[in-house]
Amino acid sequence: MKRKRRSKNPVSTCSFCGQNTAGLVSKNHTFGKGNNMLVFESIPTFVCSNCDSVYITAAVSRAMDEVLAAPEQYTERRAVSVAKLAA
Ligand SMILES: [Zn+2]
Repeated sequence: MKRKRRSKNPVSTCSFCGQNTAGLVSKNHTFGKGNNMLVFESIPTFVCSNCDSVYITAAVSRAMDEVLAAPEQYTERRAVSVAKLAA
């Protein structure tokens, strides 16, 4: 499979709607809850302005799976502020 590397290009083709409207941004992704919550900081993430899809590449997904499989090896403990909004 051929992969196009166009990280310099701010807009790329959306994997969902096929439009040239997916921008690469840096986003935090959280998994789990409470004391088991794991935060991935500044993950390169595609956000499509046409269909509102938010997605990561397969390579990033694989790297995240590696971390989730052995979090004690790849994470550091940090005190963070967590906000909940009243429903
Ligand atoms: Zn899209």
